[in-house]
Amino acid sequence: MAGNYIISVDMGGTKILASVINSREGIIASLKRPTEVKKNKNTYIKSLAKIINDVVLEAKLKRSQVKAVCLGVPGSLNPVTGVIGLAPNLGLKNFAIKSKLQRLIPYPVLIENDVNLGALGIKYFGVGKKAKNMLVVFIGTGIGGAIVINGKLYRGSSYVAGEIGHIIAEEGGPKCGCGNNGCLEAIASRTAIVNKIIAEMKRTKSGILYSYIKSSEKIKSKAISNAIKSKDRIVIKHITEACNKIGIALASLTNFMNFDTIVLGGGLIEAAGDFMLERISSAMKSNVMNDAGKAVKIMNSKLGDDAAIYGGIALAEEFLGVRV
Ligand SMILES: [Zn+2]
Repeated sequence: MAGNYIISVDMGGTKILASVINSREGIIASLKRPTEVKKNKNTYIKSLAKIINDVVLEAKLKRSQVKAVCLGVPGSLNPVTGVIGLAPNLGLKNFAIKSKLQRLIPYPVLIENDVNLGALGIKYFGVGKKAKNMLVVFIGTGIGGAIVINGKLYRGSSYVAGEIGHIIAEEGGPKCGCGNNGCLEAIASRTAIVNKIIAEMKRTKSGILYSYIKSSEKIKSKAISNAIKSKDRIVIKHITEACNKIGIALASLTNFMNFDTIVLGGGLIEAAGDFMLERISSAMKSNVMNDAGKAVKIMNSKLGDDAAIYGGIALAEEFLGVRV
């Protein structure tokens, strides 16, 4: 291999994924390993350094070919100081991850919120290439969002802009992980939808996914998508209600920001995108102001988990001025 690359790292609650990538060749090597960050933070940092060094070996790169390591963090952080504010799934709070990791590896370390990285990936390498003012929404375990304005990622005054999941969608609604009540995430994330489906199946002792309750098996996006295909009444009802809530939130945000592009992604959209996009679009269109609605296109991300991996390339260019 002769070119220059970055290492993009996806820090999940249960696994780490490290990929070697550049804009010309895409992803040339990847390693995925289970992790237990909650047990021991020092061991976690060491395992991050190890997977990074191992993936460099795997791609047969020289040290000088690696221009940056970009960490995608599921939580709040400061990309300038490299400190994680709060990453609930990782069990990390006020954690100076950049300086700790920097001591163990010879490459410049950058950190960014994983949804922001996804938006950068979509903007520079995905369906958002032509977008100037774009909202990206990832719907899965939670609901994450990121904003691009005039072609640039908008991070806000303390780097937490884009938190569409914590817009209040129902006064006095269900309790959210953030501590408030009635957040969009507490109503329309996969977690919230699954809770409603389970409650109704228990009540009615019916539904195509009823066997999941008996076996205590987790209902994932794929099972929801299959139940939609089988026209299960309960699943369709709760997914449609969630799509309405999401569409109404998107209408409000479009009136407020006049986006030209809204990109939807995340596990639930990957599994049930066609069904959901149609319903989200229609709820949005019937609630948005005419001129704002005419200007905006709603699209499916299609990049999947790779969006954030690609986003690392844009982050390295922004913070280090390196082009790979
Ligand atoms: Zn919330």
